Amino acid sequence: MADPAMDFECRVATYELWRADKLAASQGKRIFDPPNMPHLVAISRAKIVRPSRQALNLAVNLLLRTQMPKWHAAKKRRTQEFAKLARSLGREDAIKQQSSDPMDLDANEFSNLERNVFLISRHIGLLSEGEFFSDFEKEGTLIHESLEHWIDAARDIQNIFSDLESSRRLQEDKERAVGHLTISLALKSNGVSLHLRPKNTRAALIYHAAQMIAGGMTFQACVVCGTPFVGGGPAREKRARALYCSNKCRWARRNRRQKDRPSSSAD
Ligand SMILES: [Zn+2]
Repeated sequence: MADPAMDFECRVATYELWRADKLAASQGKRIFDPPNMPHLVAISRAKIVRPSRQALNLAVNLLLRTQMPKWHAAKKRRTQEFAKLARSLGREDAIKQQSSDPMDLDANEFSNLERNVFLISRHIGLLSEGEFFSDFEKEGTLIHESLEHWIDAARDIQNIFSDLESSRRLQEDKERAVGHLTISLALKSNGVSLHLRPKNTRAALIYHAAQMIAGGMTFQACVVCGTPFVGGGPAREKRARALYCSNKCRWARRNRRQKDRPSSSAD
């Protein structure tokens, strides 16, 4: 691999999911989230981990499969309601009213999301840690992150893949900025070294997803069942333009074709 190893470490703890209202009560502070919004909460001290390539692959693959169309629709409705409330009550009261109003969270979408968040965070921790939680060791402060952050990260990564796929279909040349790295200089007794660092785990995932795409990986919808799936990649060039999410769908299409064939031909 020509790519340099990513110069990045994350903090990984043990996590639980808490509702925003429980979290707010235990912290004695307001959280401007729907009261039933789940947060990932660290319940142990974190250890510093340099994420493996497999852990980052797993994270990107799972986030690509974390589709939340009902959430995005509900969020849009809520934003529109907020604008209405703010006009009639003023901004402050609108915030107060909406943060006591539970949001419609689809059970299926959220159980898939929560499962994926646990699978990912046990290897690479929270997405925004490092950015907001520099005072990590402060007594009594719970380290937590709304799952909305994970939903947004999933959508960002999906958009990077799908924008590229649509440009490919249109056969247009295109360049697009997808993320940021920080240029750091480190001074130690043996001299100065240069490091390119993502500012947090979310940025590290964007960087890793971009490396996967540059390595030939694609993300598209199965022509049989519509499930989005990952294809391509350096070792699987042949599958780069695969049409099916699984062998099951490949066989389903094949069987259907055979059934549709005139029955006179002996098979
Ligand atoms: Zn399929």
